[in-house]
Amino acid sequence: MVTVNHNYLKLPGSYLFSTIGKKVKAYKEANPQANVISLGIGDVTQPLAPAIIEALHKSVDEMGDAATFHGYAPDLGYEFLRSAIAKNDYKDRGCDIEADEIFVSDGAKSDSGNIQEIFGLDNKIAVCDPVYPVYVDTNVMAGRTGEYNKERGNFDNVIYMPCTASNGFLPEFPEEVPDLIYLCFPNNPTGGAITKPQLQEWVDYANKNGSVIIYDAAYEAYISEEDVPHSIYECEGARSCAIELRSFSKNAGFTGVRLGFTVVPKDLVRDGVDLHSLWARRHGTKFNGAPYIVQRAGEAVYSPEGKAQLKEQVGYYMSNAKAIYEGLASAGYSVSGGVNAPYIWLKTPDKMTSWEFFDYLLEKANIVGTPGSGFGAHGEGFFRLTAFGTQENTLEAIERIKNL
Ligand SMILES: *Cc1c(COP(=O)(O)O)cnc(C)c1O
Repeated sequence: MVTVNHNYLKLPGSYLFSTIGKKVKAYKEANPQANVISLGIGDVTQPLAPAIIEALHKSVDEMGDAATFHGYAPDLGYEFLRSAIAKNDYKDRGCDIEADEIFVSDGAKSDSGNIQEIFGLDNKIAVCDPVYPVYVDTNVMAGRTGEYNKERGNFDNVIYMPCTASNGFLPEFPEEVPDLIYLCFPNNPTGGAITKPQLQEWVDYANKNGSVIIYDAAYEAYISEEDVPHSIYECEGARSCAIELRSFSKNAGFTGVRLGFTVVPKDLVRDGVDLHSLWARRHGTKFNGAPYIVQRAGEAVYSPEGKAQLKEQVGYYMSNAKAIYEGLASAGYSVSGGVNAPYIWLKTPDKMTSWEFFDYLLEKANIVGTPGSGFGAHGEGFFRLTAFGTQENTLEAIERIKNL
């Protein structure tokens, strides 16, 4: 008799974005004249930069010629891309990471979901609350958690680290020592960032306790402040306790192109085994490589033209972030984020729940955002707005909120 993976049945179902979609659709049907602006989804809107388009065209042509055609890519990524990453993202920032410690993939969502596979099921995970849902859900699917607790709104046997206004939206060391610690900075959804001395404390903690940090740096390109690290490997000792996840989605608009990478330093050893070789084994068995044309596009991200164009693109989103932050602050809202990340995290006014504020904003201002409670129990009473819209829509949305 066939049985299913019963761990999947523990998942309460993420109704967040489908509920938002349904509510917006119903509102638009009832109010066809309304001009609804979305500052809700975490997807980019600007087109791919010219340097990237050029690299794509060139490599597509190569694929049409027998002399330059490329079949299966190397499992772990083409050398040209891995070297460009090692040099630009690590060596140039003073981080000791070699090209052969980089594993090219189709994005950080899959890597952040798959990385747990190389760890035993008896490991206990710690996550921030609120959190990007992939880390928890994939551990649930694997059987590394208990049941979902409806009252608390989270899972048994998971260590949740509340990130609230009172701790500046930064996690505190939990009472119980976790095996795997998921950290994401700059953060989705709070838009908060961690300073280098603060991250160093986590690295020291992990090394002291034998934990492993899984560090999601998908928003690294949005960092504007000097003391905020772009990589966990800027911290001393991170090579022996941290795995880093990166994506081309948010810095270069690859959400629909798909490219990312994971760094597993060769010094990272647990249970007598080096994790680099385990991840290489997993990657080689289950993944057949990111497309050649996409890896060439990724290489163009590091060209002088690519860098200049993407700096401008990130700047465009960050000027939206600044406008949202300042607009809301001047309208009397408690706001955070938006300085090193394209997300603004605001406290709902008048003790409204996250969903009450969602309805209020949709009905009174025709603006769509994301309820903080959708990211975890401690997101209740908060709301996320993104800077990924067009400038025109963003400025219009702020005027409407100010006029409420
Ligand atoms: C957008 C995002 C990613 C990137 O995902 P891709 O699969 O590379 O598009 C990873 N982590 C977080 C927290 C994100 O918000």
